[in-house]
Amino acid sequence: MPEFDVFTGSVEGVNTAFVVPSLPDNASELVREGVARRRISMINAVCPCGGRRAPLNRAMRRRLKRGGAQEFAIADIAHEPDCPAVAPETVAHILGWRWAT
Ligand SMILES: [Zn+2]
Repeated sequence: MPEFDVFTGSVEGVNTAFVVPSLPDNASELVREGVARRRISMINAVCPCGGRRAPLNRAMRRRLKRGGAQEFAIADIAHEPDCPAVAPETVAHILGWRWAT
């Protein structure tokens, strides 16, 4: 099973807890780089490839105003096609987490 790390920060002025995957010890360098880039881009909103986290949409902003810390969102990052974060090996590794027991 994957392990996760939690960091605190801010998204558009909203206090946020980022739950990001830990770097896998037993993965290839490409997969480790891909996971590292996903961690970086989720927390900093920018990936080294230039991909950026999508801004909060209007519905999410309204829910945050009403519900405060009760909201949950999955970051949408537009990585470049050659970024290790979206390499087939990285995606396969991440999809494998769903089926791990
Ligand atoms: Zn990227």
